[in-house]
Amino acid sequence: MTKRALITGITGQDGSYLAELLLGKGYEVHGLVRRASTLNRSRIDHLHTDSNLHLHYGDLTDGVSLVNLIREITPHEVYNLGAQSHVKVSFEMPEYTASTDATGTLRLLEAIRAAKIDCRFYQASTSEMFGATPPPQAEDTTFYPRSPYGAAKLYAHWVTINYREAYDLFAVSGILFNHESPRRGESFVTRKITLGVASIKLGITDHLTLGNLDAIRDWGYAKEYVEGMWRMLQHDEPQDYVLATGIGTTVREFAEYAFSHAGLNWEDHVRYNESYERPTEVDALIGDASKAREVLGWKPDTDAKALARLMVDADIEQMSRLLGR
Ligand code: NDP
Ligand code: GDP
Repeated sequence: MTKRALITGITGQDGSYLAELLLGKGYEVHGLVRRASTLNRSRIDHLHTDSNLHLHYGDLTDGVSLVNLIREITPHEVYNLGAQSHVKVSFEMPEYTASTDATGTLRLLEAIRAAKIDCRFYQASTSEMFGATPPPQAEDTTFYPRSPYGAAKLYAHWVTINYREAYDLFAVSGILFNHESPRRGESFVTRKITLGVASIKLGITDHLTLGNLDAIRDWGYAKEYVEGMWRMLQHDEPQDYVLATGIGTTVREFAEYAFSHAGLNWEDHVRYNESYERPTEVDALIGDASKAREVLGWKPDTDAKALARLMVDADIEQMSRLLGR
């Protein structure tokens, strides 16, 4: 039997890697895409000839579209990756962030419940839910979100647990620590740094402006993390899992890795601007992924230094191509 999966957020970083993974496993993959005045599908363009990929217009803020889609597709697995995923932006658009990330998850869960289908549900939870609670953070660590994004995701996390307990839905949350790749959104700090390095290396600009360099994050490679999401839905029991590398790296260190890989000294090129600071910061996130390792056999292979290098290489290559060099 061909398995059908629905991915919200298929046009995003993780959605694109997950679609590749599932298509490779023979799934029929359905993706929710938002209407925009220009096509926003660059991360999945290379998959468009695959006859097992089907895209549908919809939005997590539009409950009717979700109800109709779930009824029409009757998916075996739903991966809810769609979100306003940027912490800083969530301070500027708190209500929209809540509607997409918190209530959007509820709408999707309700659509599944109303359709009365046998369906497994994955929720994209985040280490931002731990916020001010010091590391290491694991599944049972106290949550203390520090942004509208973290708070909205915490609602989604708990409502996912509630649907599991109340309706016996196979619903799991993956509490994923930061994960990056050459497909990471350009305004997240890792990609901003690697794009900056490529621009400086190729002589387009001579500096990069950042905010807080002291923040510590646990950065892993997105391609490895989507494998963990899939494994969570294949297990016998619906449970929640942390995915992380267990290694903390400061923004400063990440910049150092990226610049030095291109033969540059970060201190010569990085400037500071307070506009990139957040009203409330998350100082340190370092995950303990022991449970995922023991129960799912999942383990990451790429550390922050290797990640910085592969992202710098990809950005230099892509930018050189665009410049015709
Ligand atoms: P991206 O920002 O790259 O992708 C977000 C996706 O959500 C895009 O496809 C976007 O569509 C879609 N989207 C945004 N708003 C809506 C909406 N209202 N309705 C439907 N779809 C919408 O995020 P990532 O791929 O990096 O992350 C995937 C998920 O994992 C997100 O939920 C994120 O919050 C969560 N997460 C990510 C972490 C990370 O480090 N990457 C860490 C922990 C959790 P469009 O392309 O049209 O904008
Ligand atoms: P987050 O962990 O989901 O907020 O991921 P980001 O990549 O957006 O930010 C990671 C950390 O980098 C946060 O502590 C930010 O305050 C810090 N940071 C420092 N300068 C910047 C910047 O210019 N842009 C972003 N996005 N973050 C920055």
